[in-house]
Amino acid sequence: MAASATCVFCRIVSGDIPATKVHEDAHVVAFLDVQPLRPGHVLVVPRSHVARLHDMPHAEADALWRAVHAIAPRAEKALGASATTIGVNNGRASGQEVPHVHVHIVPRKEGDGAGPFHAAFPDRPSVTREEMQAIAERMRSG
Ligand code: AMP
Repeated sequence: MAASATCVFCRIVSGDIPATKVHEDAHVVAFLDVQPLRPGHVLVVPRSHVARLHDMPHAEADALWRAVHAIAPRAEKALGASATTIGVNNGRASGQEVPHVHVHIVPRKEGDGAGPFHAAFPDRPSVTREEMQAIAERMRSG
């Protein structure tokens, strides 16, 4: 999709506003998050303006995940980290604030005080095996 003049990530991609870039290729740009969850927190974004992951053409989604695959180990090495949390807020209800696809890569260390991805969901629903089967069936046929 064409760049959006009001999108902060489009403006970073075009160079209109500054960012601390760590990677650029034909499809994606990666830069440090301005309000990092941990030092070395990287955002990897497609050059084209697409709000959600599944709105992206396959080739661009492939390129995005290839870049994440390449950048994550470099982020760990640069920060002396032993792990990364990698995630996407995919849609407003999930907490996505910038409606331009971005993958967060957050370097992690043992005992760094942040929990796993699961910590975002402290209250767990109970879902029966039958409900799971029905959910899976809807997904398979969707
Ligand atoms: P999300 O909630 O998944 O949409 O995350 C948006 C992220 O973009 C947040 O972590 C912000 O700190 C980050 N962010 C917003 N504006 C900028 C900017 N100009 N440069 C770098 N990171 C930004």
